[in-house]
Amino acid sequence: MHLEDMNPGGDPVEISNAVQQDLTEKSLCRDVHSDLTVSSQLHAAVESTFGARGFTVHNLKVLETPNGTAPQIPHADDYWNRELFVVVHLRPGQQPTQCVPYDATAAYSTDIHAQCSQCQEFTAAVTDYEARRREHLQRDKQFTCAACVANPLQGVGATRAQSRDEIDLAMQRQHYDAFAEVLLRPAETIARMRSCGHPEPSAGDAIIGLPTLVHRGPGNSLSVAKRRVLFFTVRPKLSDAGSSSVGKYESDIQIHAAWLLWRCEDVCKDVRQHILAEYKKLGYSLEKFEA
Ligand SMILES: [Zn+2]
Repeated sequence: MHLEDMNPGGDPVEISNAVQQDLTEKSLCRDVHSDLTVSSQLHAAVESTFGARGFTVHNLKVLETPNGTAPQIPHADDYWNRELFVVVHLRPGQQPTQCVPYDATAAYSTDIHAQCSQCQEFTAAVTDYEARRREHLQRDKQFTCAACVANPLQGVGATRAQSRDEIDLAMQRQHYDAFAEVLLRPAETIARMRSCGHPEPSAGDAIIGLPTLVHRGPGNSLSVAKRRVLFFTVRPKLSDAGSSSVGKYESDIQIHAAWLLWRCEDVCKDVRQHILAEYKKLGYSLEKFEA
């Protein structure tokens, strides 16, 4: 592959700190897809994350960051791990993507609910681990709703299902807890960031990340040349039911403080001003993202 200077084909679109172009040029697309489908690293990553064999490649684009560009706002690419994301350096000596050590203990909230196997009446929130392995579609898998968890001795502990508002509030709390540092202590997040992958990457070096990894593009403060990377996501190959129930990676959404303030509005009420001020100190105006 020679993507170093090639035109990927799509229309250039300006995003947060780069210009992106979808990879649409036919022969280039074919070459990239055929190279990626045989990658043993991708196969291994998909199997260990999703318990699935095989994958498809999506959201292929080339991103170019001009010299003098500041780093991105810290963010995750999704609030749970639907797919994997990959960044490939197309030129040598570029600044690496930055990230904090992955928080594997956080409870990343999914949009998926399964029937409670205790009371058969209410639904239980499906965890990120369960959802990415599609355990909610397995017949023998047991789920327990919040009411039955709260009243384990009484059998059917609840007299009513959670309302939509209660379910939404629970999701807001989960998002808030999972990304609390990004929201409340951004200076700490940035101070903890290190290079994701090799600190001095060569052309062709890549990182494979869980979308919930808190990271940021480093901008481009070193090189006169544009920082040029290939971006794509990897979707596990599963049954049709398995795919349709979980939604797709949405490349337009980033889980940064402004998204979290919007999504977790009820939970963030008391800390909203604090969050805006903390980000302002670092030079980020969150109102700008919300507009
Ligand atoms: Zn129950």
